[in-house]
Amino acid sequence: MKSEPVTESGIEPRPGFHGCVRAPPGARASAGGLGGLASPPMKSDTARAWVLAAIDLVFPALCPVCSAALGAGRRDPLCGACWRAIERVRAPLCELCGLPFPGFGTPADEGTLVGRCQACATAPPPFAWARAGGIYAGALRDAIHAFKFGGKQPLARPLAGLVLEQARAWLSAGVAALVPVPLAPARERERGFNQALLLAERLGAEAGVAVRPRWLRRTRPTAPQADLTAVERSRNVRGAFAATPAVRGLEVVLVDDVFTTGATVAECVRALRAAGARRVGVLTVARVV
Ligand SMILES: [Zn+2]
Ligand SMILES: [Zn+2]
Repeated sequence: MKSEPVTESGIEPRPGFHGCVRAPPGARASAGGLGGLASPPMKSDTARAWVLAAIDLVFPALCPVCSAALGAGRRDPLCGACWRAIERVRAPLCELCGLPFPGFGTPADEGTLVGRCQACATAPPPFAWARAGGIYAGALRDAIHAFKFGGKQPLARPLAGLVLEQARAWLSAGVAALVPVPLAPARERERGFNQALLLAERLGAEAGVAVRPRWLRRTRPTAPQADLTAVERSRNVRGAFAATPAVRGLEVVLVDDVFTTGATVAECVRALRAAGARRVGVLTVARVV
């Protein structure tokens, strides 16, 4: 398994600033904000690393979630403390939807699957499997909020890194493409980006899997899922997606930020299956438990 690119000191060599907020206020840097500073080609990565280290010294890079200096173990732009605070999804868990069974079994059971959760046993979901990087709480929930609503798009990097850390094995050679859950066009215009697409692009680049955002589209607008019950969520998104025949016969993986009740991903998977996809898995950064 390929690990995150971290040096022995635990400080990740950074090709750019990744949108970190830098102190003091007024010295805000975005991914492109200081791009000009590094644009003349450096003689070596070492020289570049020294320049970045020197800038860090004067304007310490701050975590977009907790505003602390990034420090050791950082996953730019997330600080080391926030990265470590993320509660990972641990086995034993439901073999289908990936729901962890806390308190079930002993630590020796880690890494084993113990059948299906009640919901999957009662009504099996349309996807072959679903896995997530972490539990939707604390630092991870804050990071996803900053990513989606705070315009901290560079957080796609550590969030996708979390998915790979926990679930890279699910991106096997048989997976033909990653398909992000499409955002309603109006919402995407308002936000300026689709968070699922940014995550899929990072995952695809790291794992060497193609990303196909056009294989799935929304066919009608839906109300925001946040304030709805599970039954209402399911009804709200029913028939709201359509997939292209390009998926016929292929194994694909759907990508989204949060698995809540699974209503949205299930509906996306139904559309992909209806278009002929042979097998559909689901990867999300976080999972509500
Ligand atoms: Zn932090
Ligand atoms: Zn389940």
